[in-house]
Amino acid sequence: GQCSLYCPSGAITEIDHTEKLEVIMKTKKKLVIVGIAPSARLSLAEIFKLTPGSLTTGQCAHLLRLLGFNRVFDVQFTADLTIMEEGTELLHRIDDPNSILPMFTSCCPGWVNLVEKQYQNIIPHLSSCRSPQQMFGSIIKNYYAKKINIDPKDIFCVTVMPCTAKKKELLREQFRNPETGLRDVDLCLTVREVGRMVAKRGIEFSELEDREFDNPLGFSTGSAHLFAGSGGVMEAAVRSAYWLKFGEDFPALQYNAVRGLKGIKEAVLDFDGRQLRLAVVSGGKNIHKFLETWGTSSFNYDFIEIMACPGGCIGGGGQPRSNLDIVPIRLKSVYQREQKMTSRSSHDNPYVKKLYQDWLKKPYGEKAMMYLHTTYAPFKFKSNLIKEVKKHEEINKG
Ligand code: SF4
Repeated sequence: GQCSLYCPSGAITEIDHTEKLEVIMKTKKKLVIVGIAPSARLSLAEIFKLTPGSLTTGQCAHLLRLLGFNRVFDVQFTADLTIMEEGTELLHRIDDPNSILPMFTSCCPGWVNLVEKQYQNIIPHLSSCRSPQQMFGSIIKNYYAKKINIDPKDIFCVTVMPCTAKKKELLREQFRNPETGLRDVDLCLTVREVGRMVAKRGIEFSELEDREFDNPLGFSTGSAHLFAGSGGVMEAAVRSAYWLKFGEDFPALQYNAVRGLKGIKEAVLDFDGRQLRLAVVSGGKNIHKFLETWGTSSFNYDFIEIMACPGGCIGGGGQPRSNLDIVPIRLKSVYQREQKMTSRSSHDNPYVKKLYQDWLKKPYGEKAMMYLHTTYAPFKFKSNLIKEVKKHEEINKG
């Protein structure tokens, strides 16, 4: 069925995919794997009428097990991976005098869609990194499947997201294996849909003890958790780009200049004598306002994070409540949880390190380019179709 909802990213209807998933689970022919997005673990608490973030990570893992998933992984693992790739890409772009700056983040499909439709000359400026959702699917089907000796066609890969635009992102042709024809991610559920599954199964909050995520895609750092809110990708990228460049940790882990809910945030970072100009923007109106000077000499930045929803994914259209007064509460919870995590920087994730050792070799290397990066193209408006629809409308009116 369909239900209408408010979606800041512009996707105005949400197709309910839970029934399709139930059928796959019941037939037991496929290994059903799930990965949960950074912001989704906060808002899972809201489906039990609790304050955002009051379920522990372990309780979220348990909830997904109770729903019947065979492997419970974490999209935060691939958020760490995104940072290794994006931080390295940023350094390449800074060091190469012929490369294109500023670089824009590309992990928000709402923003990527906007570029391909409305700001097409930004396309070469988008980071080529796939989003954490798409890196997740790619690692599952191309690496994990081999590791556990199973045909990727026998895997059904699901993500839990704050976002309706993520449902369309997984359908992009770039994210289908050209040899097997398989999609990297098979299905994306919003937190709302997970809420409906929980209600249907009658799962109670009191049943939720702490359980671990499965590995190797279950461990993540504070940086990955920061992806949930506006400024988080920037903060995480700065931490790791600094380490990649200088071999030591960024002096102040907490980078306040890019935190908080202001729609447009700016900062200047001293990078070994070079002043890197950073900007962080979230929400449709702010994006258009920020880009008003795009292409003129007064638009002067090196690295820009853009998220389509106000406040980032914590304000996403697939979250259980879409009124914006909940967003500051979710953000507070992001910062609190991040501080408590044992590792804070993506480059410290031991499983990410192992993935590079075993398979990818090095960030931004040949294999990484093949499996973790992507391409963009100007959106082709079907102008004839639009004309035809209008003609029909007029005839019908007449
Ligand atoms: Fe989706 Fe997050 Fe982008 Fe909103 S900000 S469209 S929730 S990825």
